[in-house]
Amino acid sequence: MNKRIFFSGIQPSGSLHIGNYIGAIRQWVDIQNDDKFLINLISKQSPKPELEIRNLQRELIFCVVDLHAITVYQDPKILREKILEVAAIYLACGIDPKKSRIFIQSENPDHSYLSWILDTVIPYGWMGRMTQFKSKSEQQKGATSVGLFNYPALMAADILLYDTDFIPVGEDQIQHIELARDTAIRFNRIYNTKLFKLPESLVDQEAARIMSLQNPLAKMSKSVQDPLGTINLLDSSEDVKRKIKRAVTDSGNEIVYRQDKPALSNLLVIYSRLSGKPIKELEKQYQGVSYVRFKEDLADVVDNVLKPIREKYAQIRQNYDYLNQVLNEGRDFALSRSQPKVAQVRQVMGLGR
Ligand code: ATP
Ligand code: MG
Repeated sequence: MNKRIFFSGIQPSGSLHIGNYIGAIRQWVDIQNDDKFLINLISKQSPKPELEIRNLQRELIFCVVDLHAITVYQDPKILREKILEVAAIYLACGIDPKKSRIFIQSENPDHSYLSWILDTVIPYGWMGRMTQFKSKSEQQKGATSVGLFNYPALMAADILLYDTDFIPVGEDQIQHIELARDTAIRFNRIYNTKLFKLPESLVDQEAARIMSLQNPLAKMSKSVQDPLGTINLLDSSEDVKRKIKRAVTDSGNEIVYRQDKPALSNLLVIYSRLSGKPIKELEKQYQGVSYVRFKEDLADVVDNVLKPIREKYAQIRQNYDYLNQVLNEGRDFALSRSQPKVAQVRQVMGLGR
């Protein structure tokens, strides 16, 4: 059978923002619902025979990666809330539990188990090269945990446990996925096995790094205190309008996508991805138009996408039984896949009796 497995996740480390949506969740929903999108995405990245990707059967697994979130301190009360919030946002954005699985990482102990196993095959030097570790440990100001250093091993475990083919993510995660792939190759070689499938990232190149509205050289991030620079998925219409109105712009008055115009380029990417209009078309449409007018239109575009998400989210959060049922089914499914995989790993490595 021509089946491909997609796996991805988001940390409940703060409020989800439009970067998480544009870089990750929006792609997940399209992969779930839209054959053409998927074929396009896959063939753009790694050309495969058309026949092979037509009628592609897919299995989609989306995780709330709470074990990743605790690599920097999380207040337990807030964490518990955020875990449910992230799961409900997946559903509100269009992840359909009839087609996809949603579960909470820490409810499947196989993730941390395999993470330890992979620790024993990943060379120390590989981890030291990870740019996310470098930037996040700087923010930790001397309080960096070993877990933060080890983050990519846990992520490799998430991916390899489920025989994942593709991981749809934003640009910042590509390096970690390459490490997961290298880890699979290394494990397979050391233990002379084909146990781990080699995964690939799936990235929407142009939209894979949405920047802060206050600093177009810094990535929009959940865990960075940048309230005006970050549009959260649950922001009110007023907040969306206020933040876009105050977004920094570049010198001059042209509305173009160009390297020397990082702020406008970022706003154009957001506009394009949330409206479906190509950037070239937007550049034409906004020739000679003021920044003020452009921003008003952009605020409407963003709010038109966020409004239904907000509304659906409110409904889902009122229906605790439903959310619980989705997460229980997701957990049971995840365990049914990961347990045999871990048993094979133990067997190959000679662990236990
Ligand atoms: P944190 O600050 O806690 O690391 P984050 O905003 O970076 O939070 P993650 O949970 O680390 O979010 O990542 C979830 C997904 O969102 C990943 O696929 C990641 O690549 C993607 N992503 C995160 N930030 C952006 C962004 N600014 N633009 C595009 N994609 C993003
Ligand atoms: Mg991140």
